[in-house]
Amino acid sequence: MQTIGLLGGMSWESTELYYRWINELVKEKLGGLHSAKIVLVSVDFHEIETLQHQNRWDEAGAALAQAAKQIEAAGADFLLICTNTMHKVAPQIEQAISIPILHLADATAVRIKQRGLQKVGLLGTNFTMEQDFYKGRLTQHGLDVVVPLAKDREIVHRIIYDELCLGNVQDASRNEFLRIINDLHAQGAQGIIEGCTEIVMLVQQKHTPIPLFDTTAIHAEMAVQRALESE
Ligand code: GLU
Repeated sequence: MQTIGLLGGMSWESTELYYRWINELVKEKLGGLHSAKIVLVSVDFHEIETLQHQNRWDEAGAALAQAAKQIEAAGADFLLICTNTMHKVAPQIEQAISIPILHLADATAVRIKQRGLQKVGLLGTNFTMEQDFYKGRLTQHGLDVVVPLAKDREIVHRIIYDELCLGNVQDASRNEFLRIINDLHAQGAQGIIEGCTEIVMLVQQKHTPIPLFDTTAIHAEMAVQRALESE
């Protein structure tokens, strides 16, 4: 079994899900007392979030590159950046290490194409919904990506940082998300990417008939598949 590197803490609420789901999947596939080989480095999200909102991406990238080096030094075979947003600095992290990164947008695109869908809605932080580092990567895979209107993007962004990253799950916020999801569906989105690793805490498939692509679960599943490839 290969050792999975997790660059987490962004937020720790979703890193906890990664840790649990990766172990559950390994247990399911190998049985008994098997569990995943994991190296986790968890950063202080306050520091990273401050740099994001001050547009100091180079410094955020340098901090994450440092953490990634620690993960590599501790023996990980490949790396997961456990947040969609910080894939903005994936190239900077990639340069600092020699192990490969299992890119979250690639993993998600593969899964969407396996389901035979072409046009998808994307929910995430404003950085993820508005900038090209993530949407562009999905488009390179041949997908059409739609995002909510500006006022709804603000709502999604605010709920992520002010509630979900603090572990606060509110029914009113779920209703807002479901309204926005229905809106994207009405615009032709055949499925919705939960392109922020905390969104699954709020909206799960049981809440809507529209296909959801939970990036946390997809990332965890792809990591386990890769770690067990030679088993
Ligand atoms: N976990 C979130 C994501 O997947 C947001 C937190 C962050 O800004 O990294 O984008």
